[in-house]
Amino acid sequence: MANGALETLKVSLRGTLIGRDDADYDEARKLYNGMIDKRPLAIARCDDVADVIAAVNFGRDQKLPIAIRGGGHSGPGLGSVDDGLVIDVSPMKGVRIDASNRTVRVGPGCTSGDVDHASHPFGLAVPFGIVSTTGVAGLTLGGGSGHLTRKFGLTIDNLLEADVVLADGSFVTASDTVNADLLWALRGGGGNFGVVTSFLFRAHPVSMVFAGPIAWEQSKARTIMRAYRDFLPKAPEELGAFVGLKTTPAADPFPKEFWGVRICMLVSCYNGPEKDGKKALAPLLDALPAPALNWMDMMPYPALQSMFDGLYLKGMQWYWRGDFVKELSDRAIEVHLEQAARAPSELSLMHLYPIDGAVHRIGKEETAWTARDATWSMVIAGIDPNPQKAGLVTRWAKAYWEALHPFNPGGGYVNFMMDDEGDARVKATYGDNYDRLAALKKKYDQANLFRVNQNIRPAA
Ligand SMILES: Cc1cc2nc3c(=O)[nH]c(=O)nc-3n(C[C@H](O)[C@H](O)[C@H](O)COP(=O)(O)OP(=O)(O)OC[C@H]3O[C@@H](n4cnc5c(N)ncnc54)[C@H](O)[C@@H]3O)c2cc1C
Repeated sequence: MANGALETLKVSLRGTLIGRDDADYDEARKLYNGMIDKRPLAIARCDDVADVIAAVNFGRDQKLPIAIRGGGHSGPGLGSVDDGLVIDVSPMKGVRIDASNRTVRVGPGCTSGDVDHASHPFGLAVPFGIVSTTGVAGLTLGGGSGHLTRKFGLTIDNLLEADVVLADGSFVTASDTVNADLLWALRGGGGNFGVVTSFLFRAHPVSMVFAGPIAWEQSKARTIMRAYRDFLPKAPEELGAFVGLKTTPAADPFPKEFWGVRICMLVSCYNGPEKDGKKALAPLLDALPAPALNWMDMMPYPALQSMFDGLYLKGMQWYWRGDFVKELSDRAIEVHLEQAARAPSELSLMHLYPIDGAVHRIGKEETAWTARDATWSMVIAGIDPNPQKAGLVTRWAKAYWEALHPFNPGGGYVNFMMDDEGDARVKATYGDNYDRLAALKKKYDQANLFRVNQNIRPAA
């Protein structure tokens, strides 16, 4: 790259361009996952669509590897790239609620907490994930599952429209009526097709919810997991409930007697009054031993969404692996118990998120995201604040996943993949939709400019 070329990009941006000599470079290149240490050539902090167009054109013309960064939460750090250009859309926030049409226009730099905050006063919510600091952009483009999934579907099932800057620098809108093939690809195809500069979502009536965690000591996990497995498919869709194997952190507000105790946790969200929520959970809870802790209560939906934020702060070591799970057999539960008992740190966890209800009412070929017959999305995450434990948490998560993977159908959620899982894994995830995605990749990004992602190769 010619000397001074970066200067031409810098002067064309309304936002800022942060290079290696800038004082804020080290802060700006930090990602959520402290295990990832990438050194991009420059970070273009985009303020608007014009900035994104300038950055895409610059990166392409200078033949730089390009990474797109929304919330920066990608496990493998796909929001950055060594020796390339980061197109950072995090300054592009802004949420506009259309209460009468129940739609929400969202800037690509928003976290899910930004959107929950804005939509809550209107008694509305868009289904996102379970930690409010996660970026809407990456979460949506990979699929998006959370507390409201059973009733209202994945985040992509509520994506009505997106504005996109394509690899050639052109700007298009994708909806069911224009560039419908692009909208199809964005519904699960990740950051492969361009830089999304605006999302339009359908929102739903959600305000106060009966929600929170219930925990039992892990010695009871077999009973809990079996009962949960049998209960969930019959439970009303107003109830979202995921199950996890984890350890109680040695910190407030957890009761001291449970600090460091391995637990099986059920985290539920009933979208409705307490009495209905209790009734929905009764067939499960009445059949189970008394929990060690039950923190379910009525709360504003955003309070639930941010309940775990304080535990998972930016900069910790993360290594995760995921799978879609169709059936949770007794044998698989035994393997879970064996592996979870070896968790190397307090924060390391396994979660099973429901993928049923409304998700199943959309056909496998209607969106790029195809695991419509899965029952859960599983994530095994090795997490610790200490960089010296990076190897330990990684080895644990891999070994746990390898022991469980034979029970599962094949692909996993792209947003719970690392970058060492190989092309075959991405292909297995998209299954019969892969060829159509590859053809659309050829149509919209033939040179594979956007390849720092779970990459879909352009068709030959
Ligand atoms: C603590 C935590 C909790 C999580 N919980 C959930 C959950 O409950 N449900 C769930 O579904 N997922 C969850 N995830 C996974 C999450 O969906 C992914 O990590 C997701 O990639 C985060 O998006 P981001 O914008 O923050 O990440 P980034 O690292 O910024 O981006 C991730 C990917 O998206 C692409 N991308 C980002 N912005 C754009 C854009 N504007 N246009 C095109 N491509 C773009 C990037 O190229 C990159 O490939 C969680 C992750 C963490 C760390």
